[in-house]
Amino acid sequence: MTREGRLPGDTCDRDPIWDREVETESHQQAFARAASAWHAQFRHLMDHSPFYARKFRDAGVGEAPVSLKNIARLPFSTKQELKQAIDAAPPFGTNLCVPAEQVKRVYQTSGTTGAPSVLALTRNDTDMWTVVGTRTYFATGIHDHSSVLTTFGAGPFVAGHTHFVLSRIGCRSVPVAPGDTDRVIFGLEAGLADTLLGTPSFAQYLANRFEKSRPARSTLALTHIVTGGEPGGGIPAIRDHIQTVLGATVTEVMGIGDIAPSLFGECPEQQGMHFCGGGHVWVELVDPDSREPMAIEAGAVGELVYTHLSREAMPIVRFLGGDIARIEGSPCACGRATFRMRVIGRRDDMFIVRGVNVYPSAILAVVGTFRPRVTGRARVIRETADVSVQPPVPVEVEVADAQAADPRLAAEIEAAIHSTLVFRAKVDLVPEPGFGESGYKTRLTVNRP
Ligand SMILES: [Zn+2]
Repeated sequence: MTREGRLPGDTCDRDPIWDREVETESHQQAFARAASAWHAQFRHLMDHSPFYARKFRDAGVGEAPVSLKNIARLPFSTKQELKQAIDAAPPFGTNLCVPAEQVKRVYQTSGTTGAPSVLALTRNDTDMWTVVGTRTYFATGIHDHSSVLTTFGAGPFVAGHTHFVLSRIGCRSVPVAPGDTDRVIFGLEAGLADTLLGTPSFAQYLANRFEKSRPARSTLALTHIVTGGEPGGGIPAIRDHIQTVLGATVTEVMGIGDIAPSLFGECPEQQGMHFCGGGHVWVELVDPDSREPMAIEAGAVGELVYTHLSREAMPIVRFLGGDIARIEGSPCACGRATFRMRVIGRRDDMFIVRGVNVYPSAILAVVGTFRPRVTGRARVIRETADVSVQPPVPVEVEVADAQAADPRLAAEIEAAIHSTLVFRAKVDLVPEPGFGESGYKTRLTVNRP
């Protein structure tokens, strides 16, 4: 029997909501909480951030406080600007709002588009990330009686903050390095864990591998898989396959390195990810093209914009995170009143075919329905830097063995993409070894002129 807000089979009697006061309050109460935090934050920024003091002045904002209701009057912040702020006064930049000796933890970004950037945290900031992350992971159904095998690396990256979160929840933690599939399989077969944290690509890879090597349903103790790091765990074709093969409930989480590494968590009702940053982060939804504010209500699709309400060291205002989300609504059977959403794609990955906006994750949803003839991975090949793409759009679809694949398969996938997504694709079947690094994250778009 499933009880509301709990994983199937979870018979514990603890409250399934970590921070009941914040997570169940009305929109008005949440707004009031955020508005009072923002009032202090605005002052903090004007007094201590040369970066924002100048940015606001350039935007014509005076010394008078801008209320949360009017936050859309403030300019957006981009990743590029934040990087420039770091470069202008290394190592912490012109948006460091505390004396450097109060910086007690420093993470780095991967630096895929240049030199790594740094993220500075005070002791309170570190705790804030842990609080928000704890709400997030607790929402997925991880309790103190859970045993969690995590493949999120520690290292320099914010994903490592998950280790503080698991420790705060009080569950058993079984860390494994990203990409160490053999050790994951050992851990699961040995019964060290009932919960797996990983990217959806990795969970899918694991499911494919188990499907091949042990067709009879395994006797794993695994009951719960939490996916994060990329969209996928919320795509029905991908989720259903992982759940069926591994016999576990799939939920997903999402965070933004510059804001909070875990900020949204899906509860076992599987109706989208709950916003878990109440009181610490303010979220707006804006039109992806005009960037005009939109109401956060069921069915709305827009870009998520984030503002730190309590961050001390490097607070960010109206950060354009680049994630396009669909709002699924609120409240939820689990009891939370916070809004739920699903990410439908990265703004940078979007392209336009004959006037229609396409996100590569939509292609994954179509390709996934062809399992087991495909592995579930696919990517779009972009031949130019233009957002507009002329059909047919080149799409590579991974198959276990291209030689053995049904010669009609490519044509069938092309037809399905055409009928579901209304554009013509040219599908190439690529065998597993040729598709590259299986397992960790799948790049949905590859530029290949
Ligand atoms: Zn819920």
